[in-house]
Amino acid sequence: MSLARRLIPLVLTLAACRASQEIPRSQDVSGREPPSPAEPETFADPAAPAAPAAPAQAPRAAAMANGTAPSLQNAPQGLPQAAALQPVTPVTPAPYDLAQDLRARSDYAKQKLGRGTLTTVLDSYVVVAPPGWTQAELQTSVSLMQNAMTAFYTGRFDKKPERAITVYLFPRAQPYNAFCKAEFNENPCMSIYGFYQPSNRAMVMNAGLGLGTLTHELVHPLVEADFNDAPTWLNEGIASVFEAPVIPRKGEIHGAKNWRYPILREAMRRDPGHVKLSTLFHISDEEFRGDNEGRNYALARYVCQWMDSQNKLWSFYHGFRDGYADDHKGLVAFHNVMQKTPEELDAAFERWLLAL
Ligand SMILES: [Zn+2]
Repeated sequence: MSLARRLIPLVLTLAACRASQEIPRSQDVSGREPPSPAEPETFADPAAPAAPAAPAQAPRAAAMANGTAPSLQNAPQGLPQAAALQPVTPVTPAPYDLAQDLRARSDYAKQKLGRGTLTTVLDSYVVVAPPGWTQAELQTSVSLMQNAMTAFYTGRFDKKPERAITVYLFPRAQPYNAFCKAEFNENPCMSIYGFYQPSNRAMVMNAGLGLGTLTHELVHPLVEADFNDAPTWLNEGIASVFEAPVIPRKGEIHGAKNWRYPILREAMRRDPGHVKLSTLFHISDEEFRGDNEGRNYALARYVCQWMDSQNKLWSFYHGFRDGYADDHKGLVAFHNVMQKTPEELDAAFERWLLAL
């Protein structure tokens, strides 16, 4: 079952997000069977109350490629009926133009959100600030995003998203929910914090509750571009580390202990046999999103933070990515970097966690 139809119950404290793709591939970032192009996934925050999924939509690549403003609801819904009945002369689509797409997205946002809406382009991202921000607050948010992106591209992610992504940054809940109502016919939004809608390549954020969701969500399009086959635990584990970003200097980013810690401690206390480093490597993507999703997020996050604390997270990530064809679980990559198997390091991980 596609996630577009199966919104996942969310963990109450923070937005989790998920990435997906517009192009079919062998395995999507959540590890499920590749969705059909007509069934883009919309991911809800594990904390939010269940809400109806966004309707399945046709890929927007054509509209974006020719610079049409990327309407979030009214894009063409696939080929017209007649096209299936009559011979069609193949038309070579115009090559994708990133600069044009960025401009179109900026224009679209200004048109939808009105005068006073500010937009800033950061690499492949258009940051949209609707009216209501103070200049200082907005500067803080944009700087955080800028610093995080610089670090993400410094020895971490090698490939950048090829297509533009819009980041709608609302200063508080009211305009955030009003936008969801206007754009997605959803009120309130599916998450109180924010979400990423891969089909439109749009992040919609309520910055009023903090910016941790933003630095989490920013990771997903990067994983999508850089390691499309990454298992969900790795994708969400890395993203979750940056919910509590620590940027000690330009080009560097780590994560601090955060609200997921007590969830993990409690899960380990209740079910020590199933909540350990080695279980993560054998958990399917479906299981990750299952009944124990909150616990799995917490475990994945702290395993990634543990590796990052030893300066080994990114060697592992790069080894896993580059050897994926022969090492779907990342066990070879893990051993190459850590010199031991996950089972051999279960106790060491637990010791580190308990002392955190
Ligand atoms: Zn996420």
